[in-house]
Amino acid sequence: QLTNAALMARRQHAVARGVGQAHPIFVERASNAELWDVEGRRYIDFAGGIAVLNTGHCHPQVIAAVKEQLDRYTHTCFQVLAYEPYVELAERLNALAPGNFAKKSLFLSTGAEAIENAVKIARAFTGRSGIVAFTGGYHGRTMMTLGLTGKVAPYKTGFGPFPGEIFHALFPNELHGVSVADALHSVETVLKNDIEASRVAAFILEPVQGEGGFYVAPAAFVEGLKAIADKHGILLIADEVQTGAGRCGTWFASEQWPVAPDLIATAKSMAGGFPISGVVGRADVMDAPGPGGLGGTYAGSPIGCAAALAVIKAFEDEHLLARSQALGERLIAGLRHMAQSAPSIGDVRGLGAMVAIELFEGGNLARPDADLTRRVVAEAARRGLILLSCGTYGNVIRILVPLTAPDALVDEGLQIMADSFAAVR
Ligand code: PMP
Repeated sequence: QLTNAALMARRQHAVARGVGQAHPIFVERASNAELWDVEGRRYIDFAGGIAVLNTGHCHPQVIAAVKEQLDRYTHTCFQVLAYEPYVELAERLNALAPGNFAKKSLFLSTGAEAIENAVKIARAFTGRSGIVAFTGGYHGRTMMTLGLTGKVAPYKTGFGPFPGEIFHALFPNELHGVSVADALHSVETVLKNDIEASRVAAFILEPVQGEGGFYVAPAAFVEGLKAIADKHGILLIADEVQTGAGRCGTWFASEQWPVAPDLIATAKSMAGGFPISGVVGRADVMDAPGPGGLGGTYAGSPIGCAAALAVIKAFEDEHLLARSQALGERLIAGLRHMAQSAPSIGDVRGLGAMVAIELFEGGNLARPDADLTRRVVAEAARRGLILLSCGTYGNVIRILVPLTAPDALVDEGLQIMADSFAAVR
């Protein structure tokens, strides 16, 4: 009989310690928004494999589509012999992406790879090298995306130097004293002090910062950033790796922006648990790199394409965008109610079903409480609820429960959260 403790001991011997693990739990099986560990214990999953399972664990339509694809062919390399699912997925995403202009797409395997490619495409189109990213932003673990990431520990520690020509401006964050005006001013400051605007290829930001703490980019900020971008011929890249595929109530969160991004990076939930990512954007920009300049052996694998097409179909069949909005409202209401008896909850926020609470000592906004955050997350796991923390201060608990989770299960999870707050107090 396998136990979590025995497997943890084997893991510690065999696996590099740099690979983190939020919970000392090994999974046996999973279905929709529930999973069971190797000891038979059941958990409600509010983490969704870090925003990958908007359609839940093992969605029947997604699994069926993948099984069918497995029986036809699993790999040809799209650059050698092409296949229809890749083209169809491009057509679908081109139609889903915001912006009143022709669009094209490209597929890869991971979120970081999508960002890498968005940067390559922006550089090829503009003939410029500079990229401006934002404090608290997270873009991945490759060298370029680590460079873009706006938080040192633990991501960047010991791994530098990173590629040059990357600069950081302030992300607006009213809760922590950075107004939209401050943030826009800091972009102008970068263009004054660090790199001339005529050498900047793109601004890159998340519509809602994910790892950074679920801070929503205000519409006025996006509008102001786009105005600066247009003035200088700079492109706008939306990193929708975490916000995309319906998490925020629209297929892409940037559909809710007052202006359309030139390029969107997408990954995670777009294929419901199978590794595929993509860049979708302005056709003229996407076509800037020459033939052979983009791709990858496994990039846009047939399995990933089949899964992604099934996810898009599940969204239509099950009206999951409306569900995302309704679920978000349910979570916000439940968390606000929870905050009434848990004074450490200093903020409840989100966009669609991308929802979080932020914890402070006694609710004092000057004192982020990472320790309490850790204890609540651990207590909830003991009580059968998988939560994830995040945030620059490590004091945010984020909810990424599958959109397909029934209300009763969501409410059960919220009750476990409330009980966990009461227990650790
Ligand atoms: N961008 C954002 C906004 C993300 O949240 C992540 C993953 N957490 C990435 C990029 C990197 O994606 P991946 O881990 O698939 O490379």
